[in-house]
Amino acid sequence: IIQISLPLNTLGMVFRQSKDAVINAERLFALLDTPPETDEARQLPPLDFKRGEVRFDSVDFGYEPGRQILWNVDFRIDPGATVAVVGGSGSGKSTLARLLFRFYEPDAGRITIDGQDLASIDQKSLRAHIGMVPQDTALFNETVAYNIAYGRPGASMAEIIEAARAARIHEFINALPAQYDTMVGERGVKLSGGERQRIAIARAILKNPPILIFDEATSALDTMAERAIQTELAQLSRDRTTLIIAHRLSTVVDADEILVLDQGRIVERGTHEALLASQGMYAQMWNLQLKQSELERTSRQLSRQP
Ligand code: ADP
Ligand code: MG
Repeated sequence: IIQISLPLNTLGMVFRQSKDAVINAERLFALLDTPPETDEARQLPPLDFKRGEVRFDSVDFGYEPGRQILWNVDFRIDPGATVAVVGGSGSGKSTLARLLFRFYEPDAGRITIDGQDLASIDQKSLRAHIGMVPQDTALFNETVAYNIAYGRPGASMAEIIEAARAARIHEFINALPAQYDTMVGERGVKLSGGERQRIAIARAILKNPPILIFDEATSALDTMAERAIQTELAQLSRDRTTLIIAHRLSTVVDADEILVLDQGRIVERGTHEALLASQGMYAQMWNLQLKQSELERTSRQLSRQP
């Protein structure tokens, strides 16, 4: 296990300890601006971005010795294509996202963008090319506007509002005491998981990066809000290399390839149609979710009757 980023591990600790997943920007910057010692020593070159081809080559990974989490994970996302990852909770989906964002390095194998090993390029430059909407978003103890613009410092107010509209959070922000100048966090307004998720989506939209990672990016939203945002996300990911981790399978139907992860191994892969036809684990998950949504619909209809 190569613990490349001591500062980031420390950061993880801060995230976990903070009650509302809100931390001080100053503290975060202090942590982020401390480059991992390995980087400092090596003076890594920036990512030479070309078309945005992402590859995982036989990647093994574990957070701690003696407990391997990913086994020989091998896949490619063509420039502009979308690969979706599905699988049970704990199967290693978020770990894939964290490796691509280089919170950690593989124990074996390698991850490349346009042929360049992530381990051999400057971390800041790598992250400038990736928009990540994580499962649980930490906000800064700052204004709403600051939190959205974080992905692209110097963005104009009009651009911030446009992104917020696309993420369906503009109306909500307008109703806050000081609108976009409202402080969020411990000393300000506390936001729900779904609201934080929409801020993170607005941030990614504004950042407008060539590579996107959505890690259950809409899991805290209700079905209606999710559907509305899905359209925006689909538009955002068009022509962009996208890794999407899904909790609701309806969001991965159109992916160029779907990977089914089970206990850290890719056990099935293919398009939605091919996976349904092969009647394996994916087909089972799909049928289960169909039944669930039918049940939900029926119970909604029943509850509406007098
Ligand atoms: P998923 O996103 O599919 O639910 P994760 O990738 O988050 O799964 O986690 C995969 C496995 O790695 C789980 O067993 C989880 O407990 C473990 N894990 C996740 N994060 C850490 C960590 N920071 N330290 C140690 N183990 C972790
Ligand atoms: Mg996860």
